[in-house]
This record gives sequence, structure tokens and C-alpha cells, in this order.
Amino acid sequence: MSYSSISHLTCPKCGSEYDDTQLNQLCSCGSPLLVEYDLSSLKGKKKEEVFDTSRNDLWRYHQLLPVRDPENVITLGEGMSPLIAMNTLGKKLGIPGLYMKDEGMIPSGSFKARGAAVGISKAKELGVKQLAMPTNGNAGAAWSLYSARAGIESYIIMPVDAPEITRKEVAVSGSHLYLVDGLISDAGAIVGGLVKEQGFYDASTLKEPYRIEGKKTMGHEILEQFGDSIPDVILYPTGGGVGLIGIYKAIQEWISLGWIKEDKVPRLVAVQAEGCAPIVKAWEEKKTESEFWQDSYTAAFGINVPKAIGDFLVLEAIYKTEGCAVAVTETDISTYQKSVAELEGSFICPEGAATFAAAASLRESGWIKEGEKVICLNTGLGIKYPESVHTAPRTLEKGASPDQVLGHVLV
Ligand SMILES: *Cc1c(COP(=O)(O)O)cnc(C)c1O
Ligand SMILES: [Zn+2]
Repeated sequence: MSYSSISHLTCPKCGSEYDDTQLNQLCSCGSPLLVEYDLSSLKGKKKEEVFDTSRNDLWRYHQLLPVRDPENVITLGEGMSPLIAMNTLGKKLGIPGLYMKDEGMIPSGSFKARGAAVGISKAKELGVKQLAMPTNGNAGAAWSLYSARAGIESYIIMPVDAPEITRKEVAVSGSHLYLVDGLISDAGAIVGGLVKEQGFYDASTLKEPYRIEGKKTMGHEILEQFGDSIPDVILYPTGGGVGLIGIYKAIQEWISLGWIKEDKVPRLVAVQAEGCAPIVKAWEEKKTESEFWQDSYTAAFGINVPKAIGDFLVLEAIYKTEGCAVAVTETDISTYQKSVAELEGSFICPEGAATFAAAASLRESGWIKEGEKVICLNTGLGIKYPESVHTAPRTLEKGASPDQVLGHVLV
């Protein structure tokens, strides 16, 4: 059996097909391209025969990943993140079956490493030497680190407001780092120019077809980690929506391989911030595409994406799974970031906190039903966002007495 069952690339809009052994970006019609596998050759096999169970990272799914030659795999051990029961918070929210898939445990501190590992490995396979990408921070961090490991030169452009630690991750890896006084869409326009004039590989979200394959593995892991049962609801903090499209793609692969049934799949929920909710607006208006969100703002930086190129795929995933889209407030985001730390001992990122806020409101409205199994995706580490928590500790004199510490007289 070959290392990958990849067959070709296909356009979800116009149906054109492309060869994955050639360098491709968008379809000539402007749509992102998706990877197709020869699933019929795997049909009838058990999971243990298709998955490389000797590996405890995302490369256990190499058969359903696009890298043809294992020599090209660039890995830092990404994947197989823990699925953690959130009993205390779950009970409080009326969702006893609440879980968190914790992507903060992954190299570079965010799930972006999944997309980078697979995207960079395939770029290496295709002979890419230089790439450019616009980013809200975490993708730039992951892609520059994996580029360094692969010996690929990278040009990373991020908004000045992006989490500062991500600048350092880019800089320390030796990538070329630039800031733009604007949004990720403004960074994207500059990258477009570099790609056109310099011939760089365009690693923008969904402009290369392989990042989504890496993110897809979150879906495979969730389905594997749940064993024989299937979660009812998966909530995902949605910016470009690649993770959500990826999880949906994994679900479809499981259906094609006969491992789950089409009429019993998790309902996918796109979670956005009220200050940047183009997918929520489109879903509420029952549209199949979103509109550019003017003057977007949220402290959950990874989901500050005013217009996603794959919006139609995100919306399709929501409609097909009978999911929904929810916007949460900035206050809710910080409240749940605190609740998860206080009740469950995990310092999660604001984007992850948004999914818990959404789960709470969906349970309250009855959309999440009693006894359902619900997974919130925490897409990164809280410690990447030190400014999201404010502290005001008292400074003690050397030799301070216990009653000075406690602020009252001990009896
Ligand atoms: C990029 C990012 C997201 C959004 O991911 P998409 O798949 O592009 O929607 C969510 N959370 C964090 C921490 C991110 O870095
Ligand atoms: Zn097309």
C-alpha cells in the first residue's frame, strides 16, 4: 500500500481537476481546491488497517493526507491532542457531557501547527523554496517554524495588533517578518503582490490546498477518541473556517469508508465574536456566502477575519450537518476564559473561550439538548495572550507577617 491515497485536486465550485504533483494554488475560477483521495481502494478496511496506530501524532492518518513520500514529512510531533471531560463547568451549564479538545498542547501553542506540518511537508514535496503568507499571528508562527525545519524561506505579514508573542515566534525562526497597520485582509493584499511579482508560493488560508488537510485531522482524532459513540455537537471558533471545513471533510471520509452513518453525524457550530460575525450573519440570512464585515474587532484575534475565501464551504458544512452559527460578546469571551481556568484548571485562549460561551447560550436556548455530548475546540494556549488577563497582586515587604499577607488578623 502506498503512503498516501491521494488521487488529485478538485474544485468544489466548477468541478475542474488538477494534478497534486504540480504546484497549484486556487482554481482558475478563483475557488479554493480540495484534495481527493482514492477512498474506494480503502473501502471495507478497518480503522486499524488504514491508520498507522504505531504513531501518536497526526501522521497516523498519513493514508488520508496528501504527502506521497514519507521522506518529505516535516514533523514536530503535532496532533493527538487530549480530549478532556469538563465535568464541573459542564454541570454548571447543564451539559454533563461537555468536553474540550485541547489544541494548546501542540507545537507552537496553537492548532495552526497541524496545517503548517502538512502544508509545509507538501510544499517541500513540490520543491517550494520561498513562501509568503498573511496571518493573524498563530499561523505565521507555526508556518515560519515549520518552514525553518524544512529549509524553506518564509515572508510573514501580520497586523500590528496581532498577539506579540507570535512576532517573536516568527522572528526567532529566521523568517522575514513584516507588520501592517490594518487587518489580515490588508496583509493579504500585500502578499498578493509578492506572489505576483516574485513568484513566491502563496501560503494564504485556502490559497494552497493542503493546510486544510492538516486541520482535518482534528476531525479524525475526535471521531477516534470517542470510540463507538459519536459526539452530538462540535463548536469551533471560526475565522477563515479552515478547521471547520476540515472537520467536515474528516466526517465525510468516515462516511465514505463506512465507519459512521450519514444520518448520524455531529452538528457543526461556527462560533464568532459579535465584532466580526460574517458567517453568523450569512447563516441567519440563509445565504450560501458571506459579505465583508466592516471595521471588525475582537480580542479573539484568530477569529478576526472579515471575509473568508472558503465561506461557502463553512456554510455548507453547517447546513449539511444541521449545525448553526453563533456570535458571542467580548465580555462572554473573557468570562469563560476565566471560568475554564477556575473550574477546570486550563488557561485557554480567547478563541477557545468563545466556544464555551456559545455552548452556554445554545444550551440555554435549548438548541443543545439535555444529555448531548458536546465538544468545544480550544485552539490555542492562553499563555500566548498574556494581555487577556489583568492582574493586580499586592507587593509584600520582605519578611511580611501572615496577617499582612491575609490582610486581617489571624486568630
Ligand atoms: C486561526 C485561529 C482560529 C481560526 O481558525 P480557522 O480555521 O482559520 O477558522 C481560531 N483560534 C485560533 C487560536 C487561531 O489561531
Ligand atoms: Zn473552479
